[in-house]
Amino acid sequence: MATRRKPRKNITRIGGHAVGPATLMMGHGYDPALSEGSLKPPVFLTSTFAFENAAAGKRFFEHITGQREGPAQGLVYSRFNGPNQEMVEDRLAVWDGADDALVFSSGMAAISTLVLALCARNDVIVHSGPLYAAAETLIANIMSRYGVAFLDFPAGATRAEIDAILGRAKRLADERGGKVALVYLESPANPTNVLVDVEAVRAARDAAFPSGEQRPAIAIDNTFLGPLWQQPLKQGAELTVYSLTKYAGGHSDLVAGGVAGEQRLIDQLRQTRNILGTICDPHTAWMLLRSLETLELRMSRAGENAAKVCAFLKDHPKVEGLGYLGFIRDARQQDIFERHCTGAGSTFSLFIKGGEAESFRFLDALRIAKLAVSLGGTETLASHPAAMTHLSVPAERKKALGITDNLVRVSIGIEDADDLIADFAQALDAV
Ligand SMILES: *Cc1c(COP(=O)(O)O)cnc(C)c1O
Repeated sequence: MATRRKPRKNITRIGGHAVGPATLMMGHGYDPALSEGSLKPPVFLTSTFAFENAAAGKRFFEHITGQREGPAQGLVYSRFNGPNQEMVEDRLAVWDGADDALVFSSGMAAISTLVLALCARNDVIVHSGPLYAAAETLIANIMSRYGVAFLDFPAGATRAEIDAILGRAKRLADERGGKVALVYLESPANPTNVLVDVEAVRAARDAAFPSGEQRPAIAIDNTFLGPLWQQPLKQGAELTVYSLTKYAGGHSDLVAGGVAGEQRLIDQLRQTRNILGTICDPHTAWMLLRSLETLELRMSRAGENAAKVCAFLKDHPKVEGLGYLGFIRDARQQDIFERHCTGAGSTFSLFIKGGEAESFRFLDALRIAKLAVSLGGTETLASHPAAMTHLSVPAERKKALGITDNLVRVSIGIEDADDLIADFAQALDAV
């Protein structure tokens, strides 16, 4: 029935014992009794939901339209919500310890909805840099057309530098007659793997905006390490953003996005998602449910594999260097890593001795690893940012970002680590 939005029997505690996320991924948010006993949730392929009576329909719409606070009280129409999407949302929220979560049709749909929900004309966005290229374009080229300005700071910035940028942003917002609307972070940054000190950002934001009303929300793109190896709500972020296309989906067979965080912000984003229609479809949500059951297994194995492969690559004579969070050399970055992260991930930068020709020879010689952009899938992928994802970035900006011609981006999968090492060894021999 459309009125039964959530199962009544979610088991999150056994006596005094809190059930962990890996276990909750099997059934949390789903009650077989609501689907004829089907052990697994069906795909709810419907555009709309029947109301039990007119009063229920009215009540649901009071929430959908924001006239009453809180999430929808029932299933209404598939642009707003659906059983498969709500199950994914319940399970995403579990990983981050969030109040609530939302799923979107892509990572960029999530980011676009977030920015549109929180920003108005004359406002200022403060963001860390570099960002995922499309997010940077959204803020710099699209939001600017609607009168939203931005200031950015380098991902590795210190508390003093963050204080300074927030001070500048406040003055700029005052001049423009707007507000500082959003602090948007991405950590680790792509492709540099530089970490943002989220704790310092939170302290700086609270100091710069002592009154709760005017505070810009802190959102962070957690695609590279989340939700297993980094849970930034614990360091003071208020929203975590995901391209679920990557580790969460994890099989390179879907495109989706997610946001998890504080209820009042999630409610604002939900209102905007209801208007824009950026929710993911039921089939993709069903695929995500299946993916989340193995999330911890997959990410753990990929992380272990990456550690073994990087240990092999570290001292290889044809390797100039590695940008891997397991081998940080900078003391400040190491300190952030220890405070924020529980694992080094499985996506890293490999610098081959030489330039584009040597890197291309390496890539063309790989036999197990596939030559493709994206990351976080079960299979190992390798790509060349300077010639692919960042081809259109001006030379000077590439230099500033450390995107050199000998940089190969690698996302390690869940294959046998020895096979991957054999593949990388023979490809380096071919350089
Ligand atoms: C892939 C990616 C995105 C965009 O996600 P899509 O699902 O492709 O829209 C955003 N941020 C990061 C860090 C990504 O890797």
